[in-house]
Amino acid sequence: MTTPTLVDLRDAWQSGRRSAVELCEEALTAIAQQDAVLGAFNTVIGEAALARAASIDRDRATWAGRPLAGVPVAIKDNLCTRGIRTTASSRILEAFVPPYDATAVAKLQAAGAVIVGKTNCDEFAMGSSNENSAFRPARNPWATDRIPGGSSGGSAVAVAAGMTTLALGSDTGGSIRQPAALCGIVGLKPTYGRVSRYGLLAFASSLDQIGPLTWTVRDAALALSVIAGGDPADATSAPQPVADYLAALTGDVRGLRIGVPTALIDGHHAGVDPDVASKFGAALQTLVARGARLVDIALPNAAAAIPTYYLVATAEASSNLARYDGVRYGYRAPADGRDDLRTMYRRSREQGFGAEVKRRIMLGTYVLSAGYYDAYYLKAQQVRTLIRRDYDEAFAHADVVAMPTSPTPAFRLGERVADPMQMYLADIFTVSANLAGLPAISVPCGFTAAGLPVGLQLTGRHLDEATLLRAADAYERDAGWPEHRPARVTTAAEPA
Ligand code: GLN
Repeated sequence: MTTPTLVDLRDAWQSGRRSAVELCEEALTAIAQQDAVLGAFNTVIGEAALARAASIDRDRATWAGRPLAGVPVAIKDNLCTRGIRTTASSRILEAFVPPYDATAVAKLQAAGAVIVGKTNCDEFAMGSSNENSAFRPARNPWATDRIPGGSSGGSAVAVAAGMTTLALGSDTGGSIRQPAALCGIVGLKPTYGRVSRYGLLAFASSLDQIGPLTWTVRDAALALSVIAGGDPADATSAPQPVADYLAALTGDVRGLRIGVPTALIDGHHAGVDPDVASKFGAALQTLVARGARLVDIALPNAAAAIPTYYLVATAEASSNLARYDGVRYGYRAPADGRDDLRTMYRRSREQGFGAEVKRRIMLGTYVLSAGYYDAYYLKAQQVRTLIRRDYDEAFAHADVVAMPTSPTPAFRLGERVADPMQMYLADIFTVSANLAGLPAISVPCGFTAAGLPVGLQLTGRHLDEATLLRAADAYERDAGWPEHRPARVTTAAEPA
């Protein structure tokens, strides 16, 4: 049996072959069977989802022709959903119920999608393994003793395990693409500003972007066409018209120039696993066989992308997370009557935030402090400009840039928690697209000898998601990975 895609489910409802209630029941059953082990969801809203599905079925005249009518979807738990608990996988927001929808969520709903629940993630999207969730880790459906990647781990697991065909994630430094790669699915980070960030709980505002996780590139194109567009509620959103991304998928990559930063990928500090390197090389050859051309490019400053990212991202996070003070939002530490206001702030934050979030707030506060600002924050902004220029230069010779998404396949739960530096190094190939504001996609490109998925990352020109999706779709047509699905997971692997 081939599991249906988003496009299949859309067509099934439009043609009247399947009802929205049936599709919703199937999603809820897949969640009920698997999620005790996989931990993809923080919240499942079964009854509300079924009620909405029933109303879509009843009111066919209204919904017919809407691009996602009747299709179950999952939403990362750092995107605000009106009336549905939104936690960012943090104790500090454990009971937070937003009074409004994120724009991307509202657009999905207007397109007829049915939200079934909110997905697990690293706390405030800080992490690469989902182990920083305050609630529980999520597990990789291909090997349940391994991490699914992060921070949008729950969204990747929901799609990889066939619970939903679409999940929204957010990507500040790879959080859509890396879990998509490690779970064997497609993850798209659009251009900064292509999708409104309104209603996304801010981590690093100059880097954050919302995007889809799906089984196929075609599904990612469909989802992007629904959520993209300018938004008066987000002044950084791009007002440019949204292209017809489905129409861009012609399969034709003849003459397309694919830039490969060979020195960066082969450099020892990238730490690329040999299995990943060989799948990446084979993927490039698949594209060449379709008529694309490889050109060697240099991204000379990309080796500095990780320190640059971790300075900019922590600085912005320390500022964004100042709003969680126990007064306006979320958790407040119990007071004993003698406490003053500062003690209440301190205790609420001490008890409400996890270790990684605290580490980043402290790092970010430090790099912004008088005396260190010039040496760290300002320097990072300068290197960020150099990285952006590297890409400008690369795109003078290439139409897309190719790299592995992650240097290694999924690692074991617990393997890197004691060493934050090891965890941060996993982001070597993903963070520069965020620093430069460019669109990038991860598409499955095979499996390691141990059966773990590997992802090919393509990065495109500013607002040129159409070319990016065309290249990724052309690759996917030949590679045939969408046929590969993990077995249904109902029990966890024994700890090694
Ligand atoms: N792994 C990166 C980090 O921990 C990226 C996170 C993200 O994209 N939200 O910051």
